[in-house]
Amino acid sequence: MSDAKVTLDDAQGVDTAKTLAADVLGRAATPTFRDELIDAGLLIPMGVDGLYGRSEVFESVVEGINNLVTRRGADQKAEVMRFPPAMNRTDFEDSEYLKSFPNLAGTIHSFCGGDREHHRLLKCLDEGEDWMENQKPTRAVLTPAACYPCYPVVAKRGPLPEEGRTIDVFSYCFRHEPSLDPARMQMFRMREYVRMGTPEQIVEFRAMWIERGKALIETLQLPHWIDLANDPFFGRGGKIVADSQRAQELKFELLIPIESEEKPTACLSFNYHMDHFGELWKFHTADGAVAHTGCVGFGMERTTLAMFRHHGLDVTQWPAGVREALWGQQ
Ligand code: AMP
Ligand code: ZN
Repeated sequence: MSDAKVTLDDAQGVDTAKTLAADVLGRAATPTFRDELIDAGLLIPMGVDGLYGRSEVFESVVEGINNLVTRRGADQKAEVMRFPPAMNRTDFEDSEYLKSFPNLAGTIHSFCGGDREHHRLLKCLDEGEDWMENQKPTRAVLTPAACYPCYPVVAKRGPLPEEGRTIDVFSYCFRHEPSLDPARMQMFRMREYVRMGTPEQIVEFRAMWIERGKALIETLQLPHWIDLANDPFFGRGGKIVADSQRAQELKFELLIPIESEEKPTACLSFNYHMDHFGELWKFHTADGAVAHTGCVGFGMERTTLAMFRHHGLDVTQWPAGVREALWGQQ
């Protein structure tokens, strides 16, 4: 297994130049897993690190895993909500994501000038100069995690029913973390079940999904283990927040080796937010207490990449049991 893993800085020009350099150098030596995925046509590079097209075969694996999650979660009677990969900027600001991960956030800007500014923009493009002067932030931002849009929506409905609520979400998400590690993308999909209710309901939900997550990954015959998460909270205070998250056991991850054995990749995550979102969006349980929330997230690309890593790039050669779990009787 290759352990080549390069995290690049965020200047796009530097980014692309380094990608090109790495391509040339990488291919001269041993091809990386990323090279192999691209050569096999499974991922289609787009000239920006962490941004890829996906082939039909890649998508068939994503779909198979997604269907497996649906089958394993059928008894949850979850309400299905599908949001576009963008959300209300005010809700995003309220979520406090910017306190923890300002460096990962993606805002959406659009041209907001008149004829004169348009003229200048075209001139800048012509002359290869910076054309962003009149690009202004819109009311939409890119979704950082699939569950984010659903909390304010559910909060607006008033108190939760006695049994709480379970929501099923699935969305592309954006995080600005350009990398040559194919498992660290800038746009990727997350399937989630989100639970809202009393602390007991959330704790029970999370414990159940840790077991179900492990069982699902066992069905896919992938090596894995569960560990406390180590989220990359930003800035000087970041370590304190990360330590507190671990001390309170707020987040577990299911890890699978993809790029390296020593640093396995988080493919599923199991979160308990306590009353964080309930407080922010003022939603309550049936008896008037602030609601607690939690979610289980399935990283669709990462789990798919783990399949290619461990079962090979040719899906026709995958173990029969795995093929059946993904696509039914062949
Ligand atoms: P998180 O909110 O960080 O727990 O992310 C939820 C899930 O999304 C993780 O368990 C991963 O499987 C997946 N994920 C997070 N970041 C990335 C990324 N940069 N590229 C691909 N998948 C990711
Ligand atoms: Zn979530």
